[in-house]
Amino acid sequence: MSFTTLDRPGLRIRTAPLGAFATNCYVIACDHTGHGAIVDCSAEPTRIRAMIDALDPAPTIRLLLQTHAHIDHVVALPDLKALTDAPIHLHRDDMPLYEAAPMQSRMFGIPLAPLPPPDVFLKDGDTVTLGDLTARVLLTPGHTPGSICFYFQEQSVIFSGDVLFAGSIGRTDLPGGHFPTMRQSLDRLTSELPDDTLVLSGHGPPTTIGQEKRTNPFLS
Ligand SMILES: [Zn+2]
Ligand SMILES: [Zn+2]
Repeated sequence: MSFTTLDRPGLRIRTAPLGAFATNCYVIACDHTGHGAIVDCSAEPTRIRAMIDALDPAPTIRLLLQTHAHIDHVVALPDLKALTDAPIHLHRDDMPLYEAAPMQSRMFGIPLAPLPPPDVFLKDGDTVTLGDLTARVLLTPGHTPGSICFYFQEQSVIFSGDVLFAGSIGRTDLPGGHFPTMRQSLDRLTSELPDDTLVLSGHGPPTTIGQEKRTNPFLS
């Protein structure tokens, strides 16, 4: 299978756009300990598994990190939970969406196995430990009420879910979306993060905070 390698010092990253909505799934691992995590078990679990194995040596997946609970970001979650038994992390404010996943599944015609309950509810300012590395949780609502980003400050990379994209931003017209709140979240990202921060989004190619500040028409 094809996937993209986006390694940072100490942090290995593999990604591919998966499923009907081309939703990026990120398999990441601490170089030193071999502890791994998956950011958004979006779809196509056999391909996610191939990405894990391709990391050679394959990391032990210790965390399933969800940026939010939209259907296109959770389709592979039941399989990956069964495969890894790693705890599912989500923000509590996305629980209504998570519980409505079967309805989203019917609405978009995407088959979905029953979702296992989340194991850990994250909140703003929490830290997530991946081997020797830590990520800070930033609550960035607007696309959904519980949208969170995972910020690896030392590696200068943020997993931004569907909040910020290269050249665009996440929709705010879906249930739970709110444009003024989204604007505050985007302001927060662009003011708190250094320009050279690599932004890895839920859809589309990688970008940086500086690139988006200069060129993203939604950030003016
Ligand atoms: Zn979304
Ligand atoms: Zn999405």
